[in-house]
Amino acid sequence: MKVRILRLGHRYSRDRRISTHVGLVARAFGADELLMDVGDKQLEKTLSSIVREWGGEFRIKFIKNWKSYVRNFDGDKIHLTMYGINVNDCITSIRASAKDKLIIIGGQKVPSGLYGMVDYNVSLGGQPHSEVAALAVFLDRLFEGKELGREFNGRKRIIPQERGKMVIDG
Ligand code: SAM
Repeated sequence: MKVRILRLGHRYSRDRRISTHVGLVARAFGADELLMDVGDKQLEKTLSSIVREWGGEFRIKFIKNWKSYVRNFDGDKIHLTMYGINVNDCITSIRASAKDKLIIIGGQKVPSGLYGMVDYNVSLGGQPHSEVAALAVFLDRLFEGKELGREFNGRKRIIPQERGKMVIDG
């Protein structure tokens, strides 16, 4: 099962830090690809250098027409929104399908038509918070924590310590 994240409505300098965090969280929590409806070379560069150093196959891609991408996506389409069904009430049925997943998160307000284009509108609680938090919690629920033990086989690797830091580089 491949998991792709679609981040809508990136605004260059204003959202760059958040979009970078979306990419970092997506990769670290088990997703395969970040799709952006707005291209940003700086963001691509930052995320690609993390992949080069820390490993894995994570990719970032720009898509021209997100609506046709969502419409034609062959798999489960899941929009994270505070207005949706609580994750506790739908994660079992989402997990039951082995189909690829497209997880959509917004920045600013998302186009209202999106709610009708997806299979699930899922809330991580009914309070406003952040696309970074929503994505992290959702992926952790989807993978049931197993993603945290995944090997990335990168050039850099951390050897866990009770105290202090140990990083293997090379
Ligand atoms: N009112 C917006 C909404 O529709 O969720 C909040 C915008 S928030 C700054 C940006 C993104 O964070 C949203 O598009 C959504 O993907 C995600 N988000 C924020 N709070 C959420 C929640 N409680 N549950 C799921 N997703 C959430």
